[in-house]
Amino acid sequence: MPAQKTDAPPEPPVLLLFRNDLRIADNLALNAAADTGRPVLPVFVFDDGADGGRPPGGARRWWLHHALERLRASLSERGAGLTLRRGPTLATVLSLVEDTQANAIYWNRRYDPVGIAADSALKTALRERALEARSFDGHLLHEPSRLTTGTGGPYKVYSPFWRALAASGEPRAPVAAPKAIRPLPAPIASDGLENWSLLPTAPDWAGGLRDAWTPGEAGARQRLAEFLDAGLQHYAEGRDRPADAVTSRLSPHLAHGEITPFQIWHALNRPDLDTPARDLETFRKEIAWREFSYHLLFHNRDLASKTVNRDFDAFAWRPDAGLLAAWQQGRTGYPIVDAGMRQLWRTGWMHNRVRMVAASFLTKHLLQDWRDGEAWFWDTLVDADPASNPANWQWVAGSGADAAPYFRIFNPVLQGEKFDPDGTYVRDFVPELARLPSRYIHKPWQAPADTLSEAGVKLGATYPVAIVEHRKARAAALAAYDAMKGTR
Ligand code: FAD
Repeated sequence: MPAQKTDAPPEPPVLLLFRNDLRIADNLALNAAADTGRPVLPVFVFDDGADGGRPPGGARRWWLHHALERLRASLSERGAGLTLRRGPTLATVLSLVEDTQANAIYWNRRYDPVGIAADSALKTALRERALEARSFDGHLLHEPSRLTTGTGGPYKVYSPFWRALAASGEPRAPVAAPKAIRPLPAPIASDGLENWSLLPTAPDWAGGLRDAWTPGEAGARQRLAEFLDAGLQHYAEGRDRPADAVTSRLSPHLAHGEITPFQIWHALNRPDLDTPARDLETFRKEIAWREFSYHLLFHNRDLASKTVNRDFDAFAWRPDAGLLAAWQQGRTGYPIVDAGMRQLWRTGWMHNRVRMVAASFLTKHLLQDWRDGEAWFWDTLVDADPASNPANWQWVAGSGADAAPYFRIFNPVLQGEKFDPDGTYVRDFVPELARLPSRYIHKPWQAPADTLSEAGVKLGATYPVAIVEHRKARAAALAAYDAMKGTR
């Protein structure tokens, strides 16, 4: 008689793909995989541009390294590991299927055009092989393909978009992380995180980022808790002042999917918060700007390279490497702009009000193409986002959907005086001006010679002379705009 076979046949595992959703709570794909009761292989698939999109910039690479370490730790507390693979999505997943004999592959949906195309091709290829392919929501409150205007088209203006989003009902409740994840009986090969060289080495410019941020899901939870305790109650009134830590600073956590808009939305409903309605509504509307940006990206796949308002294709930008470099380095001679650009370089983040002023300054005062500014932000922001970054750049430059009218040109001095009245923000990031009295902090060129000298400021030596004169720059920008309109 043949020997009785005692081992049950190996159960095919479920592959669980991580990409821009580096969390275990409110991760519907992870929960669905764990709920099968079968072994689960969590894999971070890093396409790094191989699917045809832009690879993450330096600041996001730094963040990604740390976020992956933390994700791995959370998964291992639940019994699973994290396998790392780099390469094009389709080929990488097919090779994992072959290695593991997985017959089900789950993931959370992405909403950037390259991610959508890669995941659609993946779904088709897996289903052709009779494998189960399932995708879930989490990154956005709305599905861009489903939210349409009365005539069935996409929204191009924010206010009706917001009304439609608000009217579409309370977002689903977030789900808790699975308590346990059944691992594969034997580990499979993984790339080494260190070998991906995501961290800067020569030079290590990430000191300011380390001081400012705690990447990972626990860091995101902590930020949210702090914001609910201290920022939200002053949000409507204080969100435009860059020196006040009133805004949530959740943007990099959202960009990496360490927290979901569903979790944030429902946390705002906590009965003990007693938040004034105005603050709640203002904050929700900001979350909705993120949704709107993705809506725009979904319907304008080249948002980072092509103007939404095609009239702007005729705009006569004046490329000048020197001006661009002065802006990038925070050496324009306009303190609020320079403070913002240095905050960005030091911490990987810039306050929203100052992003608007700095972007306006580049595109209007310096007449540099918004795409150059967008690319710099892409490389340096820890929250660099394929939707929010180009959507906001085009909004400021005037070429976007529902954009700021071009002729409304921010005056950097008045913006500074209004939103940083005592210069606290400028003093922090432009220390060479720290001892100037508040009345001159946003216009050092107007300070009397003895005031400058007492403050240790020598224009042109310790701090740059303004690289353009506001009134002349404004007139030149308006002339360029008129010329563009004349070419229509
Ligand atoms: P909060 O004020 O606490 O807002 C909460 C959340 O709402 C933010 O985390 C963000 O997800 C969303 N949000 C707020 N304002 C906007 C907005 N205008 N557009 C889209 N979403 C918004 N945001 C990014 O997340 N990534 C980017 O790459 C990015 N690039 C920008 C470029 C320019 C030129 C400008 C003017 C704005 C850009 N923004 C970008 C939007 C905004 O500046 C940041 O979302 C915000 O400063 C993040 O800080 P916070 O989390 O404290 O915001």
